[in-house]
Formats: sequence, structure tokens, C-alpha cells
Amino acid sequence: MSPDEVRERYERIRTEIGDAVTIVAATKYVSVEELAVLAEAGIEVVGENRAQDLEAKHARYGDAFRWHFIGHLQSRKAKTINGICELVHSLSSESAAKRLEIPALVEVNLSGEETKAGVSEDDLEALIAAYPDVRGLMTMPPETADPESSRPYFRRLRQLATERGLTELSMGTSQDYRIAVEEGATLIRIGSVLYRG
Ligand SMILES: *Cc1c(COP(=O)(O)O)cnc(C)c1O
Repeated sequence: MSPDEVRERYERIRTEIGDAVTIVAATKYVSVEELAVLAEAGIEVVGENRAQDLEAKHARYGDAFRWHFIGHLQSRKAKTINGICELVHSLSSESAAKRLEIPALVEVNLSGEETKAGVSEDDLEALIAAYPDVRGLMTMPPETADPESSRPYFRRLRQLATERGLTELSMGTSQDYRIAVEEGATLIRIGSVLYRG
């Protein structure tokens, strides 16, 4: 993985999707050392899944990036995240909401897969009511080889957000970010397409 390679991929995607969408580079595959490559490649926003890794990476790179949290949010880690991040994509419990102090998106589990994080549609209203700084919604559709199969999930997420006057939509990963942007994503979270294959 070289800075030039990552930059080329990043800029190709930027050109594809336009300037209005925030590209969040998912860094769970990237070691503390390798993160330097992303900074050199011009990546501005990174999304981390684990609070411990977030802390280690932030300690080393601080102002080089804007930091988002995209992983499972444990209430006992909320303090760390409050101090580092500008946005959490994955709020999904009232216990975490009690400790969180920064803008957040509520993660919605639209597929009903038990392995997936996020609140059900039925519990969405209560969680939004429990947190004063909800900016939008996030979802992770099932893994697929056919990006089109994600479209109904993205459409549904947009509808749920619109009904509630929420403007931010975090949806789309390497497998389906183009479809997500067509359906109104304001943030995409991509990893593999930047660093792999
Ligand atoms: C890893 C991850 C991504 C990025 O997935 P890719 O398939 O590598 O693009 C996006 N969102 C979340 C929550 C992730 O954990």
C-alpha cells in the first residue's frame, strides 16, 4: 500500500461521487504505522471501530484527520470518543446515549440479521427521543455480491430519516457506495476499495 496508490483510488472515488458526500475511510484494517500512508494520500476523515484503536491512532496522528467512530459503541468507552471524535455513526443504545456528548447518527438494523448492530425500526423513535444531538441515520445492509440488492435498504433509511427531519445518511461501503450515493448518502464508509485488491 503506497500513498500514491491510495491517493489515486481516493481521488477516483471522489470524482465518481462528487464533492457533496463525505468519504470516511474505515481504518480497522490499517495499523497505527500504516495510517501515515492515508495522511500522505490526502484522506481527511477516518472512521474507527474500536475505542482502544481510536485512542492509539489519535495519540499518534491527532490533527492529521477528522475522527469518526463507526463501531459498536460501549457506554464505558463514550468518554474516550467524546474527547476525540466529531461524529459517532453507530449510536444504538440508551445506555450509550446517556454518556455520549457529541453529534451522533443512530444505527438502524433494517435487515433484521441478528449479527448486525443497530436498533430495529420499532425502537428508533425512542432512541432519537433519548439523545439530544441526533443528526441522522446509519445502516449496514447484508453482505452481497450484487450492489443493487442494497438499494431497498438505503431507500428505506432515507425515508426513515426524511420522516423525522434528519439530514445525514451514513450508508454505503466498498460493496455498494455508488448505489448509496444514488439513494442520497451524505457519508460513505469505505475501506477495502481504498487499500485492497
Ligand atoms: C469495515 C467497515 C466499513 C468499510 O467496509 P469495506 O467493505 O471495507 O468498505 C464500513 N462501515 C463499518 C461499520 C465497518 O466496520
